[in-house]
Amino acid sequence: MTYNTQPIASHFIDGKYVEDKAGEPIPVIYPATGEVIATVYSATPAIIDQALAAAKRAGKEWAAMTGTQRGRVLRRAADIMRMRNHDLSVLETYDTGKPYQETSVADATSGADALEYFGGLAGAITGEHIQLGDDFVYTRREPLGVCVGIGAWNYPTQIASWKGAPALACGNTMVFKPSETTPLCALKVAEILHEAGAPAGVYNVIQGYGAVGASLITDTRVAKVSLTGSVPTGRKVYAAAAEGIRHVTMELGGKSPLVIFDDANLENAVSGAILGNFYSSGQVCSNGTRVFVQKGIKEAFLARLSERLKGVKMGDPQDPDVNFGPMVSERQRDIVEGFIAKGKAEGARLITGGNRVDGQGYFLEPTVFADVTDDMTIAREEIFGPVLSVLDFDTEEEVIARANETKFGLAAGVFTSDLTRAHRVVAGFDAGTCYINTYNLAPVEAPFGGSKQSGVGRENSKAAIEHYTQIKGVYVAMGDVEAPF
Ligand code: NDP
Repeated sequence: MTYNTQPIASHFIDGKYVEDKAGEPIPVIYPATGEVIATVYSATPAIIDQALAAAKRAGKEWAAMTGTQRGRVLRRAADIMRMRNHDLSVLETYDTGKPYQETSVADATSGADALEYFGGLAGAITGEHIQLGDDFVYTRREPLGVCVGIGAWNYPTQIASWKGAPALACGNTMVFKPSETTPLCALKVAEILHEAGAPAGVYNVIQGYGAVGASLITDTRVAKVSLTGSVPTGRKVYAAAAEGIRHVTMELGGKSPLVIFDDANLENAVSGAILGNFYSSGQVCSNGTRVFVQKGIKEAFLARLSERLKGVKMGDPQDPDVNFGPMVSERQRDIVEGFIAKGKAEGARLITGGNRVDGQGYFLEPTVFADVTDDMTIAREEIFGPVLSVLDFDTEEEVIARANETKFGLAAGVFTSDLTRAHRVVAGFDAGTCYINTYNLAPVEAPFGGSKQSGVGRENSKAAIEHYTQIKGVYVAMGDVEAPF
């Protein structure tokens, strides 16, 4: 391997790389080969303290800058990120195993979009004026302070940017902890932000397992926690944040429905199901893994899907022709294999896939089950792998009720040619992020997030500003003060 994946040091604090080998070593494994490609060290209490102290100190200067000045830094960072897209995409592929064909168009590019978008908005973040006769109230939209970001392993550059960009645009500072499975990319986000002119301490990255995240959340210097992770972790992080009445954004898991009516454009519906189940080898939180197909179109859908899956090309994810990578880790592959075994045992009909691929790396075939029923484990639990379940349905009313019969509410999609039905069905979904005749697009201009147990708050769009600021109301009296005595 010629590419150097070993970072300069494990952490990026106060504008520079910092090492402390007293922390537990974290081997970074390239999922396509199983090879150790770098080692970082978990943050010690001293490193955690250093990062929080830097973020706290830097907050004063950063918040005092105008929004336009802060925005300029973010937009410059976006430009640098785009310029380095190739190198960042190669690194993202080493970190996650996702094919370069994906990372070169979906990771640093999406991070750069967030930096550019929130950089553009930064100067337009304002309070309001409320006239009350001669008196008036004005509101100041103020930053929260030190924000902690905790990331999952599937989109390390994107998550670090989606949290950092709005937080910084609003005048907050951040300490970000990536997943220990993919610790490399967030360091680059920090490096680029500082190269773009962010003052030292504004955006810091420290490594570690869950315990490091847990100790960040409860520190009295922290005002907000934004987590991307599973529901069980979300429950713990939310509870820990509640102890100090901290703000939270929770981007959690899902088991989203994708509903395909008889009148849908078959080719587009199959494309939507592919995007919603096999992109990033199925390791996407908003995936539409419960594919409800109306009975009239079911066999045609299965036949066309099986045909299209012949286009899967597995192999070295750095090869631009490869379009399907391994699972992020051996552990994740084992978890997904467990679900596939349950699907078979509980009576689902295996249409294609279902096996691990011999050789090195954690590859699993894209897998399709048909005749899945609502009570089967594969229809109820988040798998986070390339496993698509097809469930049959007859009527619109029935499918909406069944689609909503889950504790999750992250995303939902519908394919139909009937305009009014499309809007009616979407209105009926209990989900935060919905799609009509497409699936899994996440442009920065649109709000992204879940309802029910899939989350609290929204990332991206103007909505994110609400979650990284607080409002101070100021009453201004223009006359004398009346008092009862
Ligand atoms: P986890 O919930 O296992 O971990 C998420 C992050 O939280 C990791 O950095 C983890 O550290 C950390 N963490 C774990 N325990 C604690 C704790 N007690 N306190 C603080 N931090 C903790 O998720 P995965 O990394 O396995 O990612 C997959 C999950 O993420 C799926 O459920 C998926 O749906 C969800 N996800 C949601 C998205 C959304 O936007 N809604 C997007 C992407 C993924 P460590 O890894 O070191 O244990």
